[in-house]
Amino acid sequence: MDCKQIRPLIHGYLDEDIDSEKNQILQAHLQTCAECREIMHEIQKAIAFVQSASHIHAPSDFTAKVMAKLPAPTKAN
Ligand SMILES: [Zn+2]
Repeated sequence: MDCKQIRPLIHGYLDEDIDSEKNQILQAHLQTCAECREIMHEIQKAIAFVQSASHIHAPSDFTAKVMAKLPAPTKAN
């Protein structure tokens, strides 16, 4: 299997959009091809970086923490 035909399978695998037959082709190729293993590793690192960076910019409890620091607007006498 040519590396150029494997690249779309790497992206499909990382997107979890690949059937088991193609996954077997990909896994078999990765065992014999260090270059494609490296490419998949780099893509996984990039995905992890984007996910961690987006977590820093928009943590799920950010709004709640900001609101907790604000004086409660409905308790004014
Ligand atoms: Zn390859």
